[in-house]
Amino acid sequence: MSVEVIESSPGRGNLYARLPGRGAGRPVILLSHLDVVPADPRTWRVPPFAGTREGGFVYGRGALDCKGIAAVELMAMIAVKRSGEPLDRDLILLATADEEAGGKNGAGWLVHHRPDVVGNAEYCINEGDHIHVLAGGRRVVHVAVGEKTPFWVKLVAHGEAGHGATPPPMTAVTRLIRALNKIRRYRTPIHVVRPVETYFAALAPLEKEPLRTKLAHLAASLDDPIFLAEFARNPRQNALVRNTITPTVLEGSPKTNVIPAEASAHLDCRLLPGEKPSEFLDQLRDVIGDDSISIETLLSFPASSSDPDSGLIAAVRHMAAQELGGAPVVPSVTPGFTDSHYLREHGVASYGFVPFVLSEDEERTVHGTNERVSVENLRGGVRRLVDVLRALPSEAPR
Ligand SMILES: [Zn+2]
Repeated sequence: MSVEVIESSPGRGNLYARLPGRGAGRPVILLSHLDVVPADPRTWRVPPFAGTREGGFVYGRGALDCKGIAAVELMAMIAVKRSGEPLDRDLILLATADEEAGGKNGAGWLVHHRPDVVGNAEYCINEGDHIHVLAGGRRVVHVAVGEKTPFWVKLVAHGEAGHGATPPPMTAVTRLIRALNKIRRYRTPIHVVRPVETYFAALAPLEKEPLRTKLAHLAASLDDPIFLAEFARNPRQNALVRNTITPTVLEGSPKTNVIPAEASAHLDCRLLPGEKPSEFLDQLRDVIGDDSISIETLLSFPASSSDPDSGLIAAVRHMAAQELGGAPVVPSVTPGFTDSHYLREHGVASYGFVPFVLSEDEERTVHGTNERVSVENLRGGVRRLVDVLRALPSEAPR
């Protein structure tokens, strides 16, 4: 097994390991990231960076996103090595930096500066979706084949700086507030794109009537305002049928009594697959209706997706039959984004598949408080992942 730590800049390490296969197929990549988002210890039951084990769970920032996944992917690689039965293809492990900041200095950097690492890999298995538990305990394996795409922008409002005691009618701050209020009231149009329609149609048979028929024909169903209101009450469902605009970072004056010359807000916009950022930007300008507010793009890349009928999906179905009592496998679209687009741009079919069985309560701890992964998932995840790797169909080398 060859191992290398590749730094995109000093201290920014990306782990790369390669376990040679028998050489018949193109390599498969197991991708994860090692960076995490911050955690405020005051809101946690346990110290967020201690890895506390309690009640069958390991608690800690990154337990699910993504260190727990990195551990399972590493253990799967070691399990294949220890078995003495190599795969018919090279197995590549990548545990990268920078994903939470957009991946430019992690997976993106590797693809551009060390294409030899990725080579002619056929598949990549990455974070993005997992095995869901529905009400009643039914399990459904989601494999993300597509993602929404981020379009992060910064609004900057300008005005005359001055003293807070003698405010002019309009300042940079009030102008920004007016713009944000227009955005708050604006509803982006409903648009059911093809992969989303397919996704809900695949989920439909798991539901009872009348929801079953409604999900089977989602675009038509959403024309009914009553069903739309009900459907969109679920934030995840809402995010899958429209572009979203979320104000996050706000900056104005650092002093209570000083009117700043500039006030700014970051908008975390997420676009549906197929949407053009330039057209969305025009809509945004129309909504704001104030040419004095400038809009800078912070992050934007094209939406990407992979084949929902590939050998990898077939291998996941095989695993679901063996390990999960024949649980259905649904190619999904996720509202978030991952590093998968870097691999897809490089020609590698990339799938969001985490071999963890997660309840909605567990899922909600990602980027939240008391993030945790069950010990069962850490164990079972290795077994399920190895099963998928072994079930990948062989093909002639290219
Ligand atoms: Zn992640």
